Amino acid sequence: MSDNTLVNPNLEFIDEVVGLGGDSLKKCFQCASCSVACPIAPEDSPFPRKEMIAASWGLKDRVVGSADIWLCHECGDCSTLCPRGAQPGDVLSAIRSYAISEYARPKKLAKMVTDKSKLGILTAIPAAWFALMAIITMFFGGTMEKIFGFFGVHWIHHTDAPIAHANFVSTWLVDATFVPLATASVVIFYLGLKRMINDMHENALTEGKTDKQDLDIKELLKTVPTVIPKILKHQQFNECGENKSRGTAHMMVLYGFVGCFIATVIAGSLLYLAGTAGPYSQINPLKWFGNLGGILIVLGAALMIKDRLGKDKSSGYKDWYLLGLVILLGATGLLTEMARLAGSTFGTYLVYYLHLILVFHLFAYVPFSKLAHFVYRIAGMTYAEYANRK
Ligand code: SF4
Ligand code: SF4
Repeated sequence: MSDNTLVNPNLEFIDEVVGLGGDSLKKCFQCASCSVACPIAPEDSPFPRKEMIAASWGLKDRVVGSADIWLCHECGDCSTLCPRGAQPGDVLSAIRSYAISEYARPKKLAKMVTDKSKLGILTAIPAAWFALMAIITMFFGGTMEKIFGFFGVHWIHHTDAPIAHANFVSTWLVDATFVPLATASVVIFYLGLKRMINDMHENALTEGKTDKQDLDIKELLKTVPTVIPKILKHQQFNECGENKSRGTAHMMVLYGFVGCFIATVIAGSLLYLAGTAGPYSQINPLKWFGNLGGILIVLGAALMIKDRLGKDKSSGYKDWYLLGLVILLGATGLLTEMARLAGSTFGTYLVYYLHLILVFHLFAYVPFSKLAHFVYRIAGMTYAEYANRK
């Protein structure tokens, strides 16, 4: 007599995946063409058919805790070949978005970031905060200098340059906002990754995808250096047929952010170690990295938007929130500098104010938005490598 398995479907999970862009889920009739078509799926227990089945049955833990969902690079080859017109690539993307909200804490904030009706309040918070910071800088700079000076802290609120960002919002206040936010994001990612890696291992053991009984974190970390070059080269995208061009746009955005990060590190060193406040000369390496980074971000994001608009792709709020944030970040970063060079005080401060609001979005909401896939994908690919899932 065969064993019976009791399936306990999580209907809320199905609804959420459908709402996140996986609306073609129910079209699947389990033919497996997609798993054969996928250029990345391992031969043993390939995806995405098994994820389509598990998700349509509401088996949340089976898919959300699986490393396989992070191996998919949304190339769309499977979606093109599906005889039922289902979009398994989009369903996996929706499951990944669900997983990001599932692992990030606090969950309430995670829900807010994926809910478009909450965009207003999520933007009003940094808008009010930086308006207050601007008022403090411009009207109470002298008082703040005395207060901070009393504690031995150098209050940077003014430079002699005719137009300088620090004259609008003190650099000290900007850093005092973003450093704790970035630290909180790192902690949220750490806790989320811890839960996710444990789930991935449990899932791999249950499905027989690994023969390693105990999860050895040291061994897992040793695998990271083998995964990073693949990500930097976007190796998986080269295996795609349909959307190979997406790899170029992704790389532009990735290296654009790397450039901006290097520029930020140089600016921090100049200010806090060398005591040199901006604005800096256009021939300073900081400007090369910052400007090139900004251009790459804008161009890469524009290509991604063009790709989404030009294809029959299921795009939801999470996709447009991320693309909008990325392109506006790059554009406001470049425009604030152009306005300063053009001598427009009002233009410079207005665009800088918008830029600060967007950077707040990036730091405060990144563990909950689709951008978090970058961190989780590294973890998923690392675990797959560790588990010898080829
Ligand atoms: S090809 Fe389409 S119908 Fe066939 S298993 Fe994949 S998603 Fe389902
Ligand atoms: S979108 Fe591409 S990588 Fe993802 S499952 Fe489909 S074929 Fe594989």
